[in-house]
Amino acid sequence: MLTFYPGPSKVYPEVRDYMAMAYDEGILSIPHRSDRFVQLSRNVVGLLRKKLNIPQDYYIFFVSSATECWEIIAQSLTRKKSYHLYNGAFGEKWLQYVRKIRPEAKGFKFGVNDEIPVKDLDADADTELVCITQNETANGTQIKETTILNLFNRYRDALVAVDATSSMAGISLKYIKADIWYASVQKCFGLPAGLGIMVCSPRTIFRAKEINERGHYNSLVTLYEKMLNFQTTNTPNVLNIYLMQQVMEQRAPIKTIDHDIVKRSQDLYEFFDLFTAFTPLVTNPEVRSNTVITLQGSEKLVDEIKRNALRHEIILGNGYGNWAKNTFRIANFPAISDDEFKILKHFFLSNYE
Ligand SMILES: *Cc1c(COP(=O)(O)O)cnc(C)c1O
Repeated sequence: MLTFYPGPSKVYPEVRDYMAMAYDEGILSIPHRSDRFVQLSRNVVGLLRKKLNIPQDYYIFFVSSATECWEIIAQSLTRKKSYHLYNGAFGEKWLQYVRKIRPEAKGFKFGVNDEIPVKDLDADADTELVCITQNETANGTQIKETTILNLFNRYRDALVAVDATSSMAGISLKYIKADIWYASVQKCFGLPAGLGIMVCSPRTIFRAKEINERGHYNSLVTLYEKMLNFQTTNTPNVLNIYLMQQVMEQRAPIKTIDHDIVKRSQDLYEFFDLFTAFTPLVTNPEVRSNTVITLQGSEKLVDEIKRNALRHEIILGNGYGNWAKNTFRIANFPAISDDEFKILKHFFLSNYE
């Protein structure tokens, strides 16, 4: 079976051996306050910095998921109000989660083919945090680096938080252009689900200390205090942290991976232009995602394509949210090989051209 599902997605094939290694090395039973854990954790933080180009002065935390980050950020970095710019289901869900914690959170919805109109935004003066989804997995759009920079410059007093769940470790991100970046590992990291990574700027930690919210096991100040010694507040997913170490050691630097992913996405968009019965959902190339490609067709055809693909041992991603029935999605994640994409293209050429 080949899977192009955009999360949980294909894991690196080496993960099979790494899991056996973790067992053999006894890593699965180490206490999370032990020197061995601290060593592992410190090593992984170093590898993430090196391989993903995360600035030296940014803090890295192990959490359990992107969803958890939605809560941590609202709890620990806002007193009242965040401002959410979204165009799809994940960005919208983030706002919904936050409203349970901070009911005054505000949302702004833009279209799938639109760039965020930074100049025309109407954030309230007391906005503490601006939230964006760099790569909207639900519809295959992404927010350009320059847009993030413009937001960061326009809202200097607010923190900028970026959901990069389906782009971190897949494309090169300019971490210094925002304050908080986070991802779950079951997307571009090519690892099994159950671990999240949160990256924070120095002023994020400053804000967390100022607010000093300590009401939750995952309050950011507590995460920060534990991480001073490369520890976590709760017993973390040690197996996944170990797998991340093994995978990150073997991985090319993000610049190289970014280059390959962007090139392959351009190739895929060109390829899918050959077809007329289904077309890319996102028509504006400026906002098309490099890591999640969404194709739109009639409900009937989309259903048939997915079933037919399964008969050919190919799993395509279902549509999501508003686009659940009339789109399907293809992950362009680093763990998926070029050969697998050849098979995918062959499937489409021989069945739908
Ligand atoms: C997958 C995804 C999430 C949720 O990840 P979990 O690991 O389920 O918390 C959040 N945001 C985006 C953009 C995603 O793609």
